[in-house]
Amino acid sequence: MGCQAPLDLDEEHICKYCLDHLPTTKYWEHTNNPIEQIFWGKLQVVSAASYLYFSKGGIVQEMLHNLKYKHQLGVGRLLGRHFGTELAKTSFSDIDLIVPVPLHKDKLRKRGYNQCDPIVEGLAEAMDKEYFLHAIERTASNESQTRKGRYERWLNVKSLFKAAQAERIAGKHVLLVDDVVTTGATLEACAAALLEVPEVRVSVASIACPAVV
Ligand SMILES: [Zn+2]
Repeated sequence: MGCQAPLDLDEEHICKYCLDHLPTTKYWEHTNNPIEQIFWGKLQVVSAASYLYFSKGGIVQEMLHNLKYKHQLGVGRLLGRHFGTELAKTSFSDIDLIVPVPLHKDKLRKRGYNQCDPIVEGLAEAMDKEYFLHAIERTASNESQTRKGRYERWLNVKSLFKAAQAERIAGKHVLLVDDVVTTGATLEACAAALLEVPEVRVSVASIACPAVV
């Protein structure tokens, strides 16, 4: 992926040059960054950051497409590991448990895997933290959103998720992970579900976000 150069034996998926030149946001080094601002006035998030800027036709889109649609789960682990290495140097190292945004059941059946799972595994490896892939459950299928107002849509999304096995989550600082953040509606609903569990704190990490959030 990226420049299409043949890979050395110690490289996977992308070459060292492309890896060194990924469009990183550095958001994890800055409080009040645009990803944290998404949650302002909505719910309490300890820290939030995206790793890379997403642009149409760019290397990040190519990698995420391969992860999501071409069974290249190694891409997710690779990105997770590199992001985790950065996060481990910051206040994100305070987290206890890493969990993914769950995939819709129909999509899971069709795709066979949640593209966020390998990202979580990579993050956990680099940060030396535990993870729990089924921490959040989808309670129902998404009804059609198109004819609903903004508030109704929000209620509908909010009621879609619940924390599973609360005893494994209670008292922990949970890092909630998604592949791409755009409006943040899904992340917000998942974070809200986690925050229903006693003494839980939530931080958020996504691999990619648009250049302007
Ligand atoms: Zn390259």
